[in-house]
Amino acid sequence: MKLDVDALRYLSKDDFRVLTSVEMGMRNHEIVPAELVDRIAGLKHGGTYKVLKNLLKHKLVHHDSSKYDGFRLTYLGYDFLAIKTLVNRGVFAAVGRQIGVGKESDIFEVATEDGTVLAMKLHRLGRISFRAVKSKRDYLLHRHSYNWLYLSRLAALKEYAFMKALQEHGFPVPNAIDCNRHCVIMSLVPGYPLVQVKQLQNPDIVFETIIGLVIRLAEHGLIHCDFNEFNIMIDDDEKITMIDFPQMVSVSHRNAQMYFDRDVECIFKFFNKRFKLSFHEEPEEAEGSKLEIDENGRPCFSSIARSAGVLDKELAASGFTRKNQDEIEKFIAGGSDEDSASSGDEVVANEDSCISADNGETVMCKFGSLDIAEQCPSNHNPDDEKEENQHSE
Ligand code: ADP
Ligand code: MG
Repeated sequence: MKLDVDALRYLSKDDFRVLTSVEMGMRNHEIVPAELVDRIAGLKHGGTYKVLKNLLKHKLVHHDSSKYDGFRLTYLGYDFLAIKTLVNRGVFAAVGRQIGVGKESDIFEVATEDGTVLAMKLHRLGRISFRAVKSKRDYLLHRHSYNWLYLSRLAALKEYAFMKALQEHGFPVPNAIDCNRHCVIMSLVPGYPLVQVKQLQNPDIVFETIIGLVIRLAEHGLIHCDFNEFNIMIDDDEKITMIDFPQMVSVSHRNAQMYFDRDVECIFKFFNKRFKLSFHEEPEEAEGSKLEIDENGRPCFSSIARSAGVLDKELAASGFTRKNQDEIEKFIAGGSDEDSASSGDEVVANEDSCISADNGETVMCKFGSLDIAEQCPSNHNPDDEKEENQHSE
């Protein structure tokens, strides 16, 4: 599958101005009245309406006239805004093939001007499994401000902040490069998700490394919460990289023990089933750690949590606030990649889907220099304004 970014090269400044205006209107409207879009964009001679038609043609906005004449961004529209900002910043210059599709994200290769290939993760909160739909819809119904745009942005911000912090503390994670809206740019991890690997040279060592990672994370104050064969990448040298962090929690979380045990159990089960590892012997204790092992040979959470580090607190101070954490947790806690893999066909088809059929294309779609509207429309989010002005210089 590929992200159809062709239209991006042909969109004008006015197109982006109106698209940005729809985005701004969505801060407090699910469907933004056309008049409001027009007022924010401030184009002369009814220009906004003509542009809206063009955006509609390219599926960047969705028209809704059920209550009033209004528009909202589609995922594709949101993708374009993020991609354009990042391209203007010089973070990358071309978008290539899709390399992953998670339950609530799409991952693409992107290339920098000098040809370095990176990974771009577009968060898609709202593309959730059926099982979770009802409760989550009910939840969202009463809180209009919790729209998918906001939640996806929050997920990206959290993923970026956590990836950066983990990297700084020496964890094997992708290199966090940049983040805008719902989009995270990171280094491309070599290898494959562990779930695709049928044979290992040293399953014992890989297993110990992975369990060691869960323990070390907890010692630093964090639990991955979706630590399984889908979120562990392994290369030909059997080197491990962990990915996918939007659902991580602190060891002080009320359900920390349950999440920790679940992560550990996933790994034990997977290695037992796939690589026939048995666990009669207790895993070796990490050097210098006071790790206790329970009667089933599993690491004991309470012994780790007692001496947990402060990475969770550092993260709380990193701009990803406690309030943000609570908001995102309500929405994504509980589900896992395992759930979605076992019920893959239950994933709700997204009407805004921006993905066209797979044609095996690996050619990068390159952008020329993309200009951002010189003047930001009135009412613009001050953060975005600062950032986009900086990068349009
Ligand atoms: P989700 O949150 O939707 O599960 P993930 O971050 O787990 O998304 O990514 C889904 C898939 O995309 C992964 O299983 C992996 O195959 C691929 N992927 C994600 N990030 C990278 C990366 N940095 N490098 C290479 N492949 C990646
Ligand atoms: Mg995943």
